[in-house]
Amino acid sequence: MARPTLAIHGGAGTVVKSLMTAELEAEYRSGLDAALTAGWTILDSSGNALDAVQAAVVELEDFPLFNAGRGAVFTHDGRQEMDASIMDGSTLRAGSVAEVRNLKNPILLSRAVMDKTVHVLLAGEGAMKFAAEQGFRLEPDKYFFTEGRWQQLQDAIAAGRVQLDHTAPKPIGTVGAVACDAEGRLAAATSTGGMTNKKFGRIGDTPLIGAGTYANELCAVSATGHGEYFMLAVTAYDVAARMKYKNLSLNDAAAEAIAHLTEIG
Ligand code: ASP
Repeated sequence: MARPTLAIHGGAGTVVKSLMTAELEAEYRSGLDAALTAGWTILDSSGNALDAVQAAVVELEDFPLFNAGRGAVFTHDGRQEMDASIMDGSTLRAGSVAEVRNLKNPILLSRAVMDKTVHVLLAGEGAMKFAAEQGFRLEPDKYFFTEGRWQQLQDAIAAGRVQLDHTAPKPIGTVGAVACDAEGRLAAATSTGGMTNKKFGRIGDTPLIGAGTYANELCAVSATGHGEYFMLAVTAYDVAARMKYKNLSLNDAAAEAIAHLTEIG
């Protein structure tokens, strides 16, 4: 028996205290609480880690203040294109989607890729075709739209930058969850709108297994930050590899992986 554990994130980065009012903080916390409750309810009733991370991420995608699902950031062309992935550490099976649109919960489509196809990653039009085949309903653009994200895009275009959500005034971004269930099975899930003002069909680290998401028998990793660096350093797998081949603890492996990232950055 293992001790069930669940950890979630709603995007890392520097939270500027002066921009965070008590009301806003309470709002963010309610979103995080809902995700913890959803995941924990599953773990607490002997459910598996995979279902727990999925349930937690669904809640975070539904919450408009995070950069995933509803409230995702905008591309340069004013679209909301989302990436997501999920991995079961006990079987090393995974599913992910990239550049999907109008889907309430991209993480559920990732799970369908894992459960119902022989593939790992589906992108763009093909992913949307698969969603239709699987009976996923599309939501109108207005479901995903938030004024704050739209303003972020206008600011990023004016400043000529591709912007990490973390550097925005309301610095809460990509979402993710990792869990260990009572059987000791580990799982990870991550979902994002990517970076504000991204262009040319840019896909980040989130749907790339090993870069933004990874789980095996030793650890479960969900990354948030500038995706290009995680892709170059294959960060999520880097943590797992350092544990496996160097026999490091999770803390030490993560510290080394992050130190390596800063060398690249
Ligand atoms: N990692 C995400 C990406 O680059 C962004 C984020 O974590 O906010 O797409």
